[in-house]
Amino acid sequence: MTHTAEREEKQSQATRIDGKAIAKKLRESIACHVDVLVTDHKLIPGLAVVLVGEDPASVIYVSNKKKSAAEAGIRSFEYNLSKDTSQDELLNLIQKLNKEKEVHGILVQLPLPKHIDANAVLETIDSAKDVDGLHIENIGRLMAGMPGLVPCTPLGCIALIKSVENNLTGLHAVVIGRSNLVGKPVAQLLLRENCTVTMAHSRTSNLPHICRQADILVAAVGKAKLVKGDWIKPGAIVIDVGINRTEAGKIIGDVDFDDVSKVAGYITPVPGGAGPMTIACLLGNTVIAACRQNNLTVPSIG
Ligand code: NAD
Repeated sequence: MTHTAEREEKQSQATRIDGKAIAKKLRESIACHVDVLVTDHKLIPGLAVVLVGEDPASVIYVSNKKKSAAEAGIRSFEYNLSKDTSQDELLNLIQKLNKEKEVHGILVQLPLPKHIDANAVLETIDSAKDVDGLHIENIGRLMAGMPGLVPCTPLGCIALIKSVENNLTGLHAVVIGRSNLVGKPVAQLLLRENCTVTMAHSRTSNLPHICRQADILVAAVGKAKLVKGDWIKPGAIVIDVGINRTEAGKIIGDVDFDDVSKVAGYITPVPGGAGPMTIACLLGNTVIAACRQNNLTVPSIG
């Protein structure tokens, strides 16, 4: 019997995957690793967070990242630059941070103002400090199955899936969305877990039909309630990465939660699913980067 069929027999209403609770456990485990680094090696992992401009959502993300870093014992270095900062000024700051011994991770909050080329910025970050996993070298390492730094939201998605199903071998995963930030790296990580992976996107024909084949469905689109209950294979694991704001200011996902819950086996809520995992994985990447830069064994975090 397949994993999906087993789950289908067990329940008629999907079990909610509590991303908030899983992320809290992960942050606690990271804090323990940081304690060991500080006590045994006098090493405090350091994360530089660079924000250009005052995009309201970015200001909130950056402040949450700083708060979580502090709670885990990670030192954060904050750079709030004006929206008029030139590309050269930003690249100079990154080059300075690349050389800074106390900075093990560099995060430049995206999106950047239009006059700055985000790719030039990402390529300037030392790949060993690229805790967002967006440097071309880390993208290549992920593709090649080599150790590197992996984007945080995709790492979080895999941890959420594995919280309910440890062995993903042979399962059919469908990823909706093909961005460098989420869709493509999630698909690579699912391949690494031996899933059969289908990537869907805005030009995919007959998306509902493709989704109905998924034992695991990851939605990373940015379209409120796109995924409906009749797109879901009974018992499937559904991970909703989307963040969409309604006219009333509520945050909702790409998945129609109530409708899909009637069919899926497991589902992540928005908020409280992929979002908290992203920050926890950023902290994990900072610890991994700090260990590698100091030739210490990289802990298995989680
Ligand atoms: P993106 O805009 O770069 O990519 C969206 C993808 O969706 C594209 O590849 C596009 O082909 C696909 N798409 C668009 N319309 C579609 C449709 N009708 N049917 C099928 N596919 C369609 O976005 P992104 O950066 O990958 O982010 C996706 C969503 O995830 C956004 O809502 C974003 O806010 C959210 N997000 C959440 C987190 C988190 O921490 N929870 C992190 C990153 C992104």
